[in-house]
Parts: sequence; structure tokens; C-alpha cells
Amino acid sequence: MRAVVIGTGPAGITAAETLRRLDPSGSVVALSTEPYPPYSPPAMADHFLTGRDEPLYWKGQDVGARLGIHERRDARVEAIDIDYREVVLADGGRIPYEGLVVASGSRLHAPLEGADLPGVLDFKSLRTATELIGRVRRGEATSALIVGNGFIGIELSLLLAGLGVEVTVIGRRNWVMPRVLDPVTSTVAEAALTARGVTLRLGVQADAIIGEPSATGVRLADGTHLDADLVVAATGVKPHTEFLVDSGIATGWGVHVDDRLGTSVPGIVAAGDVAEAADRFTGERFVHAIFINAVAQAPIAAANLLGADLRYDGAEAMNSLKHLGVPIVSIGTTDAPDEILRWQEGGDVRTVYLRDDTVIGAQLAGDIRAAGVYRSLMLRRVPVTRYGRRLVEPGFGMADIAFDALAHGPRSLSVV
Ligand SMILES: Cc1cc2nc3c(=O)[nH]c(=O)nc-3n(C[C@H](O)[C@H](O)[C@H](O)COP(=O)(O)OP(=O)(O)OC[C@H]3O[C@@H](n4cnc5c(N)ncnc54)[C@H](O)[C@@H]3O)c2cc1C
Repeated sequence: MRAVVIGTGPAGITAAETLRRLDPSGSVVALSTEPYPPYSPPAMADHFLTGRDEPLYWKGQDVGARLGIHERRDARVEAIDIDYREVVLADGGRIPYEGLVVASGSRLHAPLEGADLPGVLDFKSLRTATELIGRVRRGEATSALIVGNGFIGIELSLLLAGLGVEVTVIGRRNWVMPRVLDPVTSTVAEAALTARGVTLRLGVQADAIIGEPSATGVRLADGTHLDADLVVAATGVKPHTEFLVDSGIATGWGVHVDDRLGTSVPGIVAAGDVAEAADRFTGERFVHAIFINAVAQAPIAAANLLGADLRYDGAEAMNSLKHLGVPIVSIGTTDAPDEILRWQEGGDVRTVYLRDDTVIGAQLAGDIRAAGVYRSLMLRRVPVTRYGRRLVEPGFGMADIAFDALAHGPRSLSVV
């Protein structure tokens, strides 16, 4: 097959690799808007802190040449012509395809006045991150304001603090990473951030990014102005779908995909942060913009493009925070539980969210060993009343489940 892959992020390069492997006599063109070899965004902070290249270029910088993938960098897709089966580039070039993978990922979403001012920085791509960190390295910046206390804002705050920058994070909600952590687990993260010298201004509304002619600070809802050398927007991400507007491919927040990761147009599949797939647990369409979903979807999408019939089980909400110095894992949801079980001692917190006697989500800080057990109970919808509070007590694990299986019959063993 003559295949084209839009994107060389974790989803795109994994799809391209799969296509080459399953269809060695076909051809694969993989396009990226950036000038770099395929890279892993979660490894950017480590790269800038330590100078290490390996985790960043996780498939090897020579992956294109090595696998026979025709990688085209600085190549922006502007449209897809589904009648002629061609991808249209911003420079006017056209690339014909027989099969197309849309893996264009996500971009910064900053619905904030002044977010388009010159000088507003972000940490969403290697290109923008290189510009941001370049300013620090050149000695142009010793202070930074980060608007947004989500995952990316927090990761960047730790990196900048590690580089000696005085960092303030502004967050509308009054706990950090509100989409990932509950307020109690968040206190563990907040303590770690404060210990690393990050100033948190939480429960504060940033009204606008301000500065003339370029960004110099932020105006808060109470009229206060905060200034810094670097002003960074970390207000969220949005799937990259703009170039699909007239393509006939159905989109909502992201590209709508079915349980084979097919789009509404035959011969076109989608994977990664751009794909709005069913949630594995609730079945509702959602974009869980995380690495593991991207690399799980990509091989399935690519194989199905070649004619396989592989079903995708659905995307999961699962985050682990790497740079805080204390392990934190969050899985599933905290929405509308009918019971919450929590065990807490110092920096060790384990919280399990229950609905209809099953686990719908869990948050762990410190001792995170039970995360896999909770995920298993959650995905298999195992009734958990029988465990009572033991569920969150130290040491709860597979042994408890095996013990229970012996007492109640082998059905529960399916958890293992
Ligand atoms: C700082 C940071 C830290 C993160 N940490 C974690 C973490 O710890 N754990 C975790 O699970 N997730 C993490 N993530 C999220 C994770 O990086 C994403 O889920 C993952 O990168 C998604 O991969 P993707 O290939 O779908 O998209 P992306 O990585 O966004 O790649 C998109 C690709 O599409 C290309 N592209 C876009 N538009 C076009 C176009 N019009 N034409 C041509 N090419 C185009 C881009 O150039 C790029 O190559 C982090 C993200 C960031 C930014």
C-alpha cells in the first residue's frame, strides 16, 4: 500500500513503523510540521534538564532511514482531498495515498485574552520548548509566569525551577492538575512543588496576558498585575483538526473514530491525541491525550488500514507523574462516585472511587504499588464491597484477591 501518515509524534511514528513491518513492499511517507526526528514529548523536560538525547528521540534519530520510512519534516498538511486521495501541503505540493493515517496530535489551547501576543511561550512541542528554554540558557530570563496548573504547566514549572528560574504557576482551580488529581492527592504534589521552589497561586483567575508590544505579564481578575521575563500559556490542549475542516472526515473535539479506529471516510484511520475514541470504561467518546493511548491505538489503526480487523478496547485515563520526586498515579475518573475510600499517612495517600460497588477510579501517591490491582478491578468491574476498607489499606494487592477467590470460588480469579 502507498500509505501517508500525518504526524511523527508517538502515534504517527508507531503507525509508520507498523505499516513498514506489516507491508514491507509498500511505501510510507510520514509528515511533520517540525524540523526534528520523531520525538517523545514526555521526555522533553529530561532532555532540557540533562542534555540527554536518547529518551527524547525514543525510536532513534535514524528511525526513518533505518525502517525505510520517507520522513518529511517542516511539511505542513493544509487539506485532504478525499476525491483524488491526495494530501495537500502548505507549500502547494500534493502527496497521493491509498491509505491515510491522521496522527496530527494536539496543540496548545489558550482561550485567553492576549494569548496571541508576541512573546507568549508554550511547552507543547519541541519547537516551542526549544525557543522557551533557549531564552533561559541565553540568560534572558530569570523569572517565569505559567498560566495553567495542569500537567504540562506543572512539568514545565519543575524544569524551570531546576534551571534556576523563579517560577510562579497561576491556576484557576485551587489545587494542582485538577483534571488528573483530586484535591487530597494534589496536596502531595503541591508540597513537592513548593519544596522545589515553585510558587503556586491557586484559585486565581488570569484574565489576560498583557504587554506592549510583547507579553510581559498577566492581569488577574482582581486587577492585580504580575510581571515576569517569560510568560507561558499552559491552559490546555486541543486536537489538531483544522486542516480537516473541508475533508469530509467527521470531527467533534477530535477526529471521530469507530472501534477499529476508522474515521467516517474509508481508507482513512486516526490515532493518538487527535482521535476521539470511546472511553474503555464508560464507552463515551473522549480524547484522553496521553502517551499510552497514542501508542496503543497506532498499531491497530495501521493494521486495520492494511485490511486487518482489530478491535480497539477504548482509551483510558491514566497518568503518572515523573518529575515530582514522589510517585503519583491516577487512573479512571473521580466523577460522581457514590463512595470514596481513602487511606492517608504523611505523603502516602490512596483513594479509591466507587460507583455501584465497582471501582471507577483511583489515586495513589507515595506507595503506588496497588495501582495495577485497582485498574484491573476497575476494567473488569469486579464487585468490591467484600474487601471493605481493606481495599485502601497498606499491602492490599493480588494476594487479597487470590485469597478471596479461594473463599468465594474461581470467578474472582479472572481479575488476576
Ligand atoms: C510536556 C509534555 C509532557 C507530557 N508528559 C506525558 C506523560 O508523562 N505521560 C503521558 O502519558 N503523556 C504525556 N504527554 C502527552 C503525550 O506527549 C501525548 O499524548 C502524545 O505525544 C500524543 O502523541 P501523538 O502522536 O498523538 O501527538 P503529538 O505528539 O502531538 O504529535 C503530533 C505530530 O503531528 C504533526 N502534525 C500536526 N499537525 C500537522 C499538519 N497539519 N501537517 C503535518 N504534520 C502535522 C506534528 O508535527 C507532530 O509530528 C505530555 C505532553 C507534553 C507536551
